[in-house]
Formats: sequence, C-alpha cells, structure tokens
Amino acid sequence: MVLVNENFLKLEESYLFAEIARRVETFRASHPKEKLIRLGIGDVTEPLPQAVIQAMHKAVDEMGRRESFHGYAPDQGYDFLRETIVKNDYETRGIHVDMDEIFVSDGAKCDTGNIGDILAQGNRVALTDPVYPVYVDTNRMAGRSIAYLPSTAENGFRPPLPDEPADVIYLCYPNNPTGTTLPREELKRWVDYALENRSLILYDAAYEAYIRQADVPHSIYEIEGARRVAIEFRSFSKTAGFTGQRCAFTVVPHELEGYTAAGKQIALHGLWSRRTSTKFNGVSYVTQRGAQAVYSPEGQAQVKATVDYYMENARILREGLQACGWEVYGGTDAPYIWLRTPRGVSSWEFFGQLLSKLHIVGTPGVGFGPSGEGYLRLTAFGRREDTLEATERLRKF
Ligand code: PLP
Repeated sequence: MVLVNENFLKLEESYLFAEIARRVETFRASHPKEKLIRLGIGDVTEPLPQAVIQAMHKAVDEMGRRESFHGYAPDQGYDFLRETIVKNDYETRGIHVDMDEIFVSDGAKCDTGNIGDILAQGNRVALTDPVYPVYVDTNRMAGRSIAYLPSTAENGFRPPLPDEPADVIYLCYPNNPTGTTLPREELKRWVDYALENRSLILYDAAYEAYIRQADVPHSIYEIEGARRVAIEFRSFSKTAGFTGQRCAFTVVPHELEGYTAAGKQIALHGLWSRRTSTKFNGVSYVTQRGAQAVYSPEGQAQVKATVDYYMENARILREGLQACGWEVYGGTDAPYIWLRTPRGVSSWEFFGQLLSKLHIVGTPGVGFGPSGEGYLRLTAFGRREDTLEATERLRKF
C-alpha cells in the first residue's frame, strides 16, 4: 500500500496564483466584453533583450553542427557563464565569490524550494511575513515548523529578529510582495544574528536589478561574515526577461557549514553539489549562452532600458495613487506596489472589488502571509498604457 506525504494535505487548497486565475476566469466567463488589466502575477511583459536573442540564435546554429554540438551541460553550469557572473555580479562590487560556488539552475523558484533537501526536517524556520509563498509551502511539504516575523507599515517593514531561536531564516530583498528593501545596517543585524545562533540565511535577491538607493546591498555577501551563514539566490527572470526561458543561479560559499545531530560540522557546498549532480541535468547550452549575453555591453544597456521601463510604471502607479490619498509602499527599489486596502476591507474583498468594479487584477496581500491582510499587491510589469489606465481607474475609485 502506497503511503502519501500527509504534509501535502495540510497545505492551502490551491497555490495562490492558481486561486486568482480561477476567480478571474469566473469573472471573465460572465463578463466577456470587459477589458481586464492584469497587474496580479509578477510576470514580465517586455521581450528578451536583442543581445540575448542573437547569442541564442548563434548557439542554436552551433547545436546544429557536429563539431560544435553540446550534449548534457555540466550540472553546475558552463564555466563561461559562471566566470561571467563572478566577474560582473560580484567582483565589480568588491565581493569574493569562487566560480565553483555558483550553481546555475532553471529557476530561483526551484532552488529556494529544493534547498530544503539538504536540511533536516527538524529545523525551525523563520520567515518574514508577508513573503513569496514558495518558502512557506515547501517547508510545510517537508513538515517543518514555521515562525512568521511580521513586516508591516507599523514596523516600517523591518521585521523583528525571531524571539525563539531560528535555524533557517528566509530573507527576500527587495521584497516580494511589499516592494520594500533592507538598508545595510539592518541586513547586518540578520547576519550577526545568524553568526551568533549558527543559523542559515536563505537570501533571495531575485529583484536585485531594481535597487536604486545607494545604501541598499545588492548581495548579502556585502555584509561581513555573510559567507559563513548565507546562501544567495539570483535569477535572470526579472532582471532580463527570462521567466519563460528559465535561468537562475545559487551561490553556496565554501565556508558555510551546517551540523549533524551529533554536532559535527558539514560543508553545505558539498551537500548541494551532491544533490545537484544527482537530481539535475543542467540548463541548456542555448539558454546559458543567452544568459551570458545579458552581461555584454549591449545586453547591459538593453536590460537597463527594460528595468527602467518597469520602474517608470512603478513610479506612475505609486505617485498616481499617493496623489489621491491611497496609502502606498514599495515601487522605489522594486517592481511592486503594496497598497493598503480601504479601512475595514479585507485583502480578498478588495481584490473582488477591483476585479468587479474596476476590472483590475491585483494580488490579495493575505495570500503572501497573515501580515499581508489589509494590503493588495500591484505589479509594475504591465504595459505602459495598461499601467496608466489602471492608475486612472484607481484614482476614480
Ligand atoms: N524569488 C522571488 C522572490 C520571486 O518573486 C520569484 C518570482 O516571482 C522567484 C524567486 C522565481 O524566480 P524564477 O523565475 O527564477 O524561478
């Protein structure tokens, strides 16, 4: 008799975005003529940069000739991409990361979810709340206990340190969904906590490319001691439009150690490497050549233009809504606007009102955790004309 993982039975019935899609479909079926503006799911809308397209075309041609054909990619990624990442994402900021510490993958979603494979089930997990739902669900699937650290307007979106010891801490900055960031001295507080408590920080920097303020770190390794306590996740999805193409990477420093129940120190790099080579067969050659082209001078200019386009959308939404009295957060260093719902209106009620009255799709804040109640997330990833129209509709609400 096959036994199931009963932890799955304790999950919410459907993943947040599946539930939103279901409600939107129901609305569309009964209102087929209404023009919906989708500012819900955090997916990009601008095409891949031309430099990436050209590099991928060239790579496809290489795959068509015996002498330049590539079979299985190295599990950890091609040297050409890992070298480029080290040089451009880290060396330019004065951060030391070894090429061997980079693991190229098909997504930060998979990596932030899969990292639990190398961690014991008994770890106590702490999450800033609200946050990207993948961390919660994957830990629930594994049966781990989770402590929520509220991050709201009341505490200036600076979540408190855990009052019970936490073994594993997820930090996501710039934050999805609140669009807020942590300044350097705040992030240092977390690194110091982890060093003191022998905890592991899982640092998701998927929106790093959107940071504008000088005192906001782009990498957790800008903080002294972080190499001993943190794994960093990065993605080409929001930086360079790879949501459909799929490419990301994870950094696991050699110094980073966990413990056996008997107290023996174990390098996490070795465990993640073992896990990767067993369960993953690498990202395609064509995709990795495309990712490498993101760092070329043309690629960098094109990526910047796209990020600037989304950030202008964020500015339009943020300033437009603020001007007519909405309470709005985020949108200065991240492509998300975190909107306070009208007094006494819940996140899902507000989601329903926006859908039925304004035909705008947002994401109910409570879907990202209990402290997201009373908020709604709008994304800046829409098209300009839709962003302007949504701002206008909200202005009149
Ligand atoms: N991490 C965060 C915080 C995200 O918001 C998202 C996507 O919305 C991801 C990771 C997913 O990244 P990827 O497309 O690389 O899987």
